[in-house]
Amino acid sequence: MQQTGHLLGAGGQGALAGWAAGLAFGGWWVFLGKDFSHSLVRLATLRLAFGALAGAVVGLALSILLHLILSFLGRKSARLLAFAAALLATLYLVVAPLVAFRLRATFLPWYLYSPRWLTLGLILVVGSLTGGLLILRVREALAANRARHSRSNWIGATGWGLALLSLLALAVVSRLPLASGATGRPIILLSLDTMRGDRLGALGYPKPLTPHLDALASQGVLFEQATSTAPWTLPSHASIFTSLLPFDHGSTRETRPLRPSLSMLAERLRNAGYRTAAFTGGAYVSAGFGFGQGFEIYEDQGGAERIAAAALKWVRSVKDQPYFVFVHTYEIHFPYTHTEFVDKRFLDQGMKPLDVEQLAAIHNGKLAVAPDERQFESELYDGDVARADFVMGRMLDQLQQEGILDRAILVVLSDHGDDLWDHDDYWSPGHGHSLYQELLHVPLIVRAPGLVMAGGRIRTPVSLLDVLPTLLALEGIPGESEDQGRSLVASLSQGSEPDPVPMNAEATEYGPERFARREGSLKAILTPKPDELRGGIDRNARPLEVFDLQSDPHEKHDLSAALPPEASALVEDLWKRVERVWQRGSQGGPSGPIPKELEEQLRSLGYVR
Ligand SMILES: [Zn+2]
Repeated sequence: MQQTGHLLGAGGQGALAGWAAGLAFGGWWVFLGKDFSHSLVRLATLRLAFGALAGAVVGLALSILLHLILSFLGRKSARLLAFAAALLATLYLVVAPLVAFRLRATFLPWYLYSPRWLTLGLILVVGSLTGGLLILRVREALAANRARHSRSNWIGATGWGLALLSLLALAVVSRLPLASGATGRPIILLSLDTMRGDRLGALGYPKPLTPHLDALASQGVLFEQATSTAPWTLPSHASIFTSLLPFDHGSTRETRPLRPSLSMLAERLRNAGYRTAAFTGGAYVSAGFGFGQGFEIYEDQGGAERIAAAALKWVRSVKDQPYFVFVHTYEIHFPYTHTEFVDKRFLDQGMKPLDVEQLAAIHNGKLAVAPDERQFESELYDGDVARADFVMGRMLDQLQQEGILDRAILVVLSDHGDDLWDHDDYWSPGHGHSLYQELLHVPLIVRAPGLVMAGGRIRTPVSLLDVLPTLLALEGIPGESEDQGRSLVASLSQGSEPDPVPMNAEATEYGPERFARREGSLKAILTPKPDELRGGIDRNARPLEVFDLQSDPHEKHDLSAALPPEASALVEDLWKRVERVWQRGSQGGPSGPIPKELEEQLRSLGYVR
């Protein structure tokens, strides 16, 4: 009886220490996710309750285990107990910090975005609680050895009580109903960064790079003329998640993370009761740039295999609950590495893929790329496309076999393409510098059996701004008046062409600011000079290009010298956009330095300044 009392006391003490440590961890998570400033009360409660409960369970188990081992040793001999205590102290003070340091990315996935004082504070709190528990167990065992039993006390009872309370909170909050009317169908959003639309087999690319994507297109709806809002990762993904043009969401520079006040897709779904998770390649889609808003977990997993495995594991773990998972990979992004579609002649010549340093030399005008090497790089790019299709396709196949995919809404897209010497020798291979179609035309496929028709093809140009309103409409969740895109649900369910509307793209990463607008097959690109813009706009003698994409899909014949009459309104509207942006300035939040780890990731992708 007394033994049981001791056991319960030790367990309760462990639960209390673990509960407090877990609560500190949950609080850290809530703080970094800015849950309360986004009024994500439900998410914050879940994070706190989950942290506290997980901590209590681990603390309870650990404390009971220590109690059993130490009291057993204590009964054998005092010397054995002293030896065990010394061993535990060494493990705790030397081994634990070393292991924890190595595994910090696993246990503290958000630590990259955590100020140093906060991370240290968290480690200090968790360290003193677990250390205190350890000392308590050793002291108790020593006391028992001298036949002075400590009494189980109110501390233990409090621990048990709080653990049960956390369990109750978690059970109740996670079962709160979805926003009224939401269907709760799971959403899988897959972004294949840097994939040109013209590489899709379903759109006529002669090499079979994309068997999985082509199959998805035949099972769902393929938008043949999907257009990005920006030619590089940060503003384009930000547009997908906010349904705002780059100069309206404001993340048009690497020093401008997404503002917390923006209403992002994951936040809206989270508030409607969906579980949310993201598994990405990091860099410009890191939580550090503000993409974590509304996500329960947001992990930068590195390579495509790891990303696919992590996403698969998470999707399996949420089972029947409604969820939104964002999966993103840089597999296609420079440096290109896969030789699957490279002409054997290049390999026989011993040609090597360009590396990050060589890319910097090309961008700086110090290295010229011969025609053979261009061909070689272009074929390596194709290999990377095929690799991305293979790895992500395998993940989707797995989801299909497990019956998960057919219940979900799957969206596959890319944020922009890549210039492979289509227009610019100086910035090829690469993106961010122009607004030509090799950068703006992207794949967009939606698959959802029973909800979206199979084999639909939409020829009317649509924008990535439309992704958010379309997904919300498919889920039965109302949009917001600020959303700039439109719902494409009618096209998805009946295959009907949407009304043609003009579409904008803007915000370059390199070189001068550029603005584009497309209406039907006509497209205008404006490149106002910064000094002229600062001094007010003079519309005469501005660099303007106009193309007819129907007759000139590769944008080689500029029509601006003899402007077609039907293009004048398009150009006028584009000027209005430029003037509005310049008068108002970008909407970005305060600029800040880029965290060191992010800078490393960016460098490995070839973003060298
Ligand atoms: Zn990108």
